[in-house]
Amino acid sequence: MLKMAEPIIHHRNPEFNEVFTRVNRNLKYLFQTTQPVVTLTSSGTGGVEATFVSLFSPGDTIISVNGGKFGERWVKMPRAFGMNVVEIKTAWGKAPHADQILDALRKNPQAKAVYLVHSETSTGTATDVKTMAGLIRDNSNALICVDGITAVGAHELRFDEWNIDVCVTGSQKGLMIPPGLAFVALSRKAIEAMEKSTAPKFYFDLRKALKSYEANDTPFTPAVSLIVGVDAALEMIRNEGIENVWARHELLASALRAGIEALGLRLFSDSPSFAVTPVWVPDGIAWKSFNKILKIDNGITIAGGQDDYKDRIFRVSHLGYYDELDMLAFVGALERTLAALNYSFEAGAGLAATQNVFLSHRANAMA
Ligand SMILES: *Cc1c(COP(=O)(O)O)cnc(C)c1O
Repeated sequence: MLKMAEPIIHHRNPEFNEVFTRVNRNLKYLFQTTQPVVTLTSSGTGGVEATFVSLFSPGDTIISVNGGKFGERWVKMPRAFGMNVVEIKTAWGKAPHADQILDALRKNPQAKAVYLVHSETSTGTATDVKTMAGLIRDNSNALICVDGITAVGAHELRFDEWNIDVCVTGSQKGLMIPPGLAFVALSRKAIEAMEKSTAPKFYFDLRKALKSYEANDTPFTPAVSLIVGVDAALEMIRNEGIENVWARHELLASALRAGIEALGLRLFSDSPSFAVTPVWVPDGIAWKSFNKILKIDNGITIAGGQDDYKDRIFRVSHLGYYDELDMLAFVGALERTLAALNYSFEAGAGLAATQNVFLSHRANAMA
């Protein structure tokens, strides 16, 4: 935040070039790749749009997994560009099965790409990208494209080792800075695909972004303050170590789930994300009053459900700048809120369960 408050440097000055060179190097570390990761000034959705228009053409077949609001977006978006979309639908809260992907590939051998959402934020559900990428690679020539927008920096992701072709994230998720930047990792195969693409594009033409990238530059004026901010955020991630960052997210998510279940609340997802935890609003409790007490009396902001799950689930984030005490604070506030709404439970049960996960993790780490 302090870095971003400094006077703006000019983006054609050596000073900016120095920052952007470091950012580009550290982005490779974040995605675990030696291949290019380009930065676009747009929200995450713009980054994904850039991949559709830069790699594919109208009439191309794209397989897209839709298990929530974001998967649904990656069905609608390529359709808007005249692409032929094969939709794999999964129920909200369920991850796609290998069989669903294999079946779609068998029926559509001409498919140019499979789009997967690594952590579907609307449902708090994680997809096993490593396994799915292996299957896709073994059974087709399709590009493996990953919406990593809440997964990068929360879930293990090894772009090169897992043979991923495209992975996108956004600045306001695991990178912990305000919205406004998208980051797109591209394999050699993805870069080759750009030569054949005939979809109309200009600002989101990744060939332009890549050409400038080679000189640690951008084709258009970038959001300079955000790049200065992400430089600091990437340094934090480097200092902690990416594997430790993934492990911290997994630990916070599992401790939080333990606390929530100990209070008798039910988790929503079968395959929980390490970035966000979705929970059913307990029977007899109105989401609106629940949310209001958490926010006004306890100072905690959570998100509600979307579409069919509006007012029925709530979602707790633990993505980015969070630690163990934040989870204890949340579970403590949850207990107070439930008590205010006359929900019956044993006071401290959630806190004890969360604390025990942390304490046994520490004991194991020391042993
Ligand atoms: C936030 C999010 C997006 C959309 O990103 P914007 O920055 O809002 O455009 C896409 N996919 C997932 C999984 C997200 O969490």
